[in-house]
Amino acid sequence: MPQKLVDGFERRVDYLRLSVTDRCNLRCTYCLPAEGFRFLPHEDVLRYEELLRLVHIASGLGISKVRVTGGEPLVRKGILGFLERLCALTEIRDVSLTTNGVLLESLAEELWAVGVRRLNVSLDTLHPAKYAAITGVDAFWKVWQGLCAALDRGFSPVKINVVTMRGVNDDEIEALADITRSYPFHVRFIELMPFQPEGYEERYLSADVVMERLCAMGTLVPARSENGNGPARYYQFLDAPGKIGLISPMSHHFCPSCNRLRITAEGGLRTCLFSDRHVDLRGPLRCGCSDEEIAALILEAVRKKPQRHHVNDGPVFQRKCQSRPMTAIGG
Ligand code: SAM
Repeated sequence: MPQKLVDGFERRVDYLRLSVTDRCNLRCTYCLPAEGFRFLPHEDVLRYEELLRLVHIASGLGISKVRVTGGEPLVRKGILGFLERLCALTEIRDVSLTTNGVLLESLAEELWAVGVRRLNVSLDTLHPAKYAAITGVDAFWKVWQGLCAALDRGFSPVKINVVTMRGVNDDEIEALADITRSYPFHVRFIELMPFQPEGYEERYLSADVVMERLCAMGTLVPARSENGNGPARYYQFLDAPGKIGLISPMSHHFCPSCNRLRITAEGGLRTCLFSDRHVDLRGPLRCGCSDEEIAALILEAVRKKPQRHHVNDGPVFQRKCQSRPMTAIGG
C-alpha cells in the first residue's frame, strides 16, 4: 500500500479511529457532560456506506489499521453488518473495537463471526456500586461477563481501559492490576484528560504515581506491545498471563509518535484529539465529490497535523480540552 500520509513532521499516519455514533448507553461523569449535550440528529451521522467509502479512500493513502469507536459503537443498529464489511476489506490489516462492554456478552459470538479479533473494553472499577456512580448505569456484572465471554471466545488481546481518578478509583489500582496475574487481560491505566474541566485538578493522577504503586506490588518487567507504536508502555508481573499498560497523554505526551487520524460520527476529520480543528468530509461526500477530491482533503489535513498538543502546557488547574466531550469525538 502506498504510504502517502506523512505529516509535516515526518510522522507516518496509518491508523484511523472511526466513530460510528456519538450516542452511548452510559453517562460516564468524565466523558459526557451532565447536561447541555445534544446528540447528533440521525441524518447528520455518516451512513455505513459513507464510512466504508472513507475507509477505502484512506486505505489508498496508507491507512491500514482501523479502530471502531464512538459513543458506544455496539448501540448503533446494523453495527455487525458494518463490521463484517470493514473486516472484509483486504487493504485493512487490523480492525479493532472499543466498547464499554455492556452489550458484549450477547454479541461476543457474532463479533467474532464477522471477523473482529481485538477488543478494548472500558472498566474503571471492580465495585458494582461505584461503577453505577461513575457511569450512571448499574451494569458492572454485564461488563464483567462480557469480558469473560470475550476471553472464552478467543479475542486477543482483550484490553481493559481504566481511567485513573484520584478520590474515585485510585484505591483500586492494585486490585485492577492484580487481574493480570489471573487473566490474560491487558489492564491499561489512562490519565484523565480534561474534557470535563470541573474538578479536574483534584481528580487528575499522573501515570508516574500509578507506576510507583504498581512497582510496590512486585517485580514488573517491560513487556512488548503487540502493535509496536501504540501510546501505552507495557509491563508484566513475573509469570503473569496479563499485561499492564500505562497511557499518559498528559504527563508524557506521545505526540512525536502519533500515527493516528480520527473521523467523528458526522464526518469531521481530526488529526489531533486535543485540537478543535477539523475538516468536514460529510459535505464533500454528500455533494458528489470524487474519491480523488476527498483523498486530497485528507492529505492536506495530515500535512497540517499539529506537531504536539498543548493541553498540559500550563498548570493543572488551567487544563481544558476543546469544546467537545470525548463521546462526540470518538475515544
Ligand atoms: N463507548 C466506548 C467505551 O466506553 O470504550 C468507546 C468510546 S469512549 C469515549 C473511549 C474511551 O475514552 C474510553 O476508554 C473512555 O474511558 C475514554 N475517555 C473518555 N473521556 C475521557 C477522559 N476525560 N479522559 C480519559 N479518557 C477518557
